[in-house]
Amino acid sequence: MRQSQLFTKTSKTSPKDEVSKNALLLIRAGYTYKVMPGVYAYTPLGLMVLEKIKQIVREEMNAIGGQELIMTNLQRKDTWESTGRWSDEAVDVWFKTKLQDGTELGLAWSHEEAIMEMIQRFVESYKDLPVSVYQFQTKLRNELRAKSGIMRGREFVMKDMYSLHATEADMDQYYDQVIEAYKKIYARLGLGNETYITFASGGAFTKFSHEFQTLCDAGEDVLYVNADKTVAVNEEVLDDASAQLGVDKNTLVPMKSAEVGNIFKFGTEKSDKMHIVYKDREGKQQPIYLASYGIGITRAMGVIVEKLADEKGLVWPESVAPFRVHLLSLDANEQAEAIYESLTRAGIETIYDDRSVNAGEKFADSDLLGIPYHVVIGKRSLESKKAEVKHRQTKKTEEVSFSELIDYLQP
Ligand code: ATP
Ligand code: MG
Repeated sequence: MRQSQLFTKTSKTSPKDEVSKNALLLIRAGYTYKVMPGVYAYTPLGLMVLEKIKQIVREEMNAIGGQELIMTNLQRKDTWESTGRWSDEAVDVWFKTKLQDGTELGLAWSHEEAIMEMIQRFVESYKDLPVSVYQFQTKLRNELRAKSGIMRGREFVMKDMYSLHATEADMDQYYDQVIEAYKKIYARLGLGNETYITFASGGAFTKFSHEFQTLCDAGEDVLYVNADKTVAVNEEVLDDASAQLGVDKNTLVPMKSAEVGNIFKFGTEKSDKMHIVYKDREGKQQPIYLASYGIGITRAMGVIVEKLADEKGLVWPESVAPFRVHLLSLDANEQAEAIYESLTRAGIETIYDDRSVNAGEKFADSDLLGIPYHVVIGKRSLESKKAEVKHRQTKKTEEVSFSELIDYLQP
């Protein structure tokens, strides 16, 4: 991609109405556009990052048999009435609207009830179970506060997966598989080292649910972590969970964290309330077990920004960066063009700063954009036949000869 053609431009000034680091940087760098508090558009650059994150999640969900689908944003009132979750007392983040004939509708804040209703049509007998489906969907939530940038949106992207089972044992074993898949996801997102699986308050069915919490100063939660950072416990269940884990809660230190995932066993709760059943081998009607598994896609992007960005701007891990290489031409356009072509031909995702602006501006912008490798072609390169390659995260630079450039930059 040629930077001169890019839809967005960077900005030197920080938006005045933002306090969170992730939003400040993402807006300045042109990855997001703020429409109102808690509501952000994703530009082509921002979308590239989101799509990379989604693809990692998709691969790991597919690997455990998840099938992707997409549900709807407009939801029926009766679907949610059947479980007592239509009222604003039961769910305090509802956005609701009406059809022209007055029929009330809900705007999707979640999809558990919606998936249960949908499976009635497809799950009839034990032969149809287990099954696991997931989607990437924009959730709408009327959150009271929205000061954490894209980490808490009123409109945000979630991956939500739902697994349906004939027995509790089957649900339990799948749930454990999902935990392992989640660990892989956070590792691939570059958050593995500081993401903990923690106990959180459960629901009607189990005492605990599980959350995936990433240590992060900008997070809204508090984790209690032991000295060697092997145990972390959620504040809300500190007494219970430390007892369960056999650790003395007084040895744990509070640290800020962000909830990047939440997984839940509903068991037969929804099935009982909604009267959704399957027929067992004997033809007897039985309730269906449900577990649900969320990941905050846009929140994860925000957490990555918060944790990796430095004083100069964004720093993307290679796995989610919109491009792998930022090619900068400093008055050496012909040579840079040739290199741009060869990198692109080699399948190396490259954004090429072909703009006629001064070197200082190019360097500042490329630090702000946070692409992992900066390849600088200047006048000196023409004689030496070498490019200067800077690794954005470590700030290390190296001279790499043109002939070795592709090998050097290959993932
Ligand atoms: P929180 O406690 O942060 O309000 P939640 O428990 O309501 O989140 P879930 O309904 O479990 O969230 O949603 C699954 C995941 O979606 C969460 O683990 C989080 O990563 C993400 N998420 C939830 N609310 C938001 C939001 N307002 N903006 C961005 N991501 C969110
Ligand atoms: Mg939660």
